[in-house]
Amino acid sequence: MGNDARVLIGGRTIDGPTHPVYNPARADEIVGRSALADAELVDRAVRAAADAAPGWAALSVTDRRAALKGAAAAGLEDFENRARLLTAEQGKVLWESMVDLAGAPYLLHESRRLIERVAGEEVADDERGRFIRRRRPVGVVAVIVPWNYPVLLAFNAIAPALAAGNTVVVKPSELAPLTLTAVLHAVAATLPDGVLNVVPGDGAVTGHALAGHPLVRRVMFTGGTAGGRMVMRAAAESITGVGLELGGNDPALVLESAVIDDELVTALRNSVFTCSGQVCFAVKRIYVHRSHFARFVEAFSDATDELAVGDGLDPASSIGPLISAAARDRVTELIRDSAENGANVRELGSKVDPGGWDRGHFLLPHVVTAITQQSRLVAAEQFGPVLPIMAFDTEDEAVALANDSEYGLAASVWSRDDGHAFEVARGIEAGTVFVNVHQAGASDHTTPFGGVKQSGIGRINGWASIEELTETQMLIRRDDAATLPGPPG
Ligand code: NAD
Repeated sequence: MGNDARVLIGGRTIDGPTHPVYNPARADEIVGRSALADAELVDRAVRAAADAAPGWAALSVTDRRAALKGAAAAGLEDFENRARLLTAEQGKVLWESMVDLAGAPYLLHESRRLIERVAGEEVADDERGRFIRRRRPVGVVAVIVPWNYPVLLAFNAIAPALAAGNTVVVKPSELAPLTLTAVLHAVAATLPDGVLNVVPGDGAVTGHALAGHPLVRRVMFTGGTAGGRMVMRAAAESITGVGLELGGNDPALVLESAVIDDELVTALRNSVFTCSGQVCFAVKRIYVHRSHFARFVEAFSDATDELAVGDGLDPASSIGPLISAAARDRVTELIRDSAENGANVRELGSKVDPGGWDRGHFLLPHVVTAITQQSRLVAAEQFGPVLPIMAFDTEDEAVALANDSEYGLAASVWSRDDGHAFEVARGIEAGTVFVNVHQAGASDHTTPFGGVKQSGIGRINGWASIEELTETQMLIRRDDAATLPGPPG
């Protein structure tokens, strides 16, 4: 019972049907059970949030800051056990679970800085009259999150939503709901009833009911592009605003002016394989200037070969399993497709526990060369430990290859000449282009983040989130009404 993800509505825990959540490193092991909230429970949760909204919105700056301080402290409770639980349900190595989990207290704490500015009003008095520009919370915010960084991604939306005076209903992913739900229960207990509610469940029923609920005024969705499309359709019914943080197929461009040293190779390797490649803005294809190609591939393959794949709780593991058998099979199929179409596929790395290998959804890291831009592995968001590397001759060609994608989340440009790299970066169609870096943490709560094209709509982090989660309201008195154009008299 201890690990179970339970529905929380208006401060009350509600029991009902559940499903098991398995450990991806030992697929026959049940880590806990998760609720499957139906449309009726979703409706109750949204109504509880709507009831709590006026009281929460009316709190003074001081009181809301104090409330979020208590919430942040609750997000930090029982940290080590929760980090272990996250690795058990999600698979990634323990330090990554700690980074994910630390997102809750950190983002709640940081969001307190925004509260005063949210409450601020701009008053303009001139000969025309008085114009007051202010922000209103949107009301009930639905937060729907994926399984790869469940806690951090949820609080990316929850923390600014609460700071802006909204109330929230969260739907965790059915694949990794346990830790997030535990954190949400703890945080919600420090807030007035109904301010933060949780409806664990699947996408088709629970997520769909939440995204389409007429009392939800903003859906903050993080997940795949297909899911985002469905959320948008459901939200369209009530003209509900959506913030969509979707998939990516991030390119890294290693220019002729780059130095291929350990630092560059290790940084790129880590960006590719962190969380076994299951990160929205992991590097998913690398383009290298032809003069460096052979050396880069050799150095990158050597660095990749150092990775040890195993249970995320085993300190010997550098990366864990994939989230599910379906995910592993999908990535394996993309690798097989590349090989069948003439690519050079290298399986690298080592198995931490060869005896236990078949119990989990493990996959060794792969590096693929002699592959074309048109191949499925390059075109898809592979979301696994496999990387295609391709050569280019001119920077214009490299930028065109980078932009030849339906996605546009992030990208990176690598060069010893920073100024030149920033110039090249300007030509890339992506919400964020990094220079000589490409990793989680390089974009943080101070930098607006989000995608172009099918990688999403809107920007999150800090004030960018506040703009998504509030509506501008104008209060206007006109002293010059008599001189304004009016109906023909
Ligand atoms: P997913 O789209 O399958 O699921 C995400 C969430 O949406 C889950 O909670 C799921 O239950 C729910 N959902 C699914 N169908 C739904 C529907 N019809 N209506 C409402 N909710 C629905 O994604 P996933 O497999 O959990 O996560 C992986 C994807 O997320 C990758 O594509 C990755 O790139 C993306 N992602 C993006 C970001 C970002 O910031 N842009 C961050 C992390 C992950």
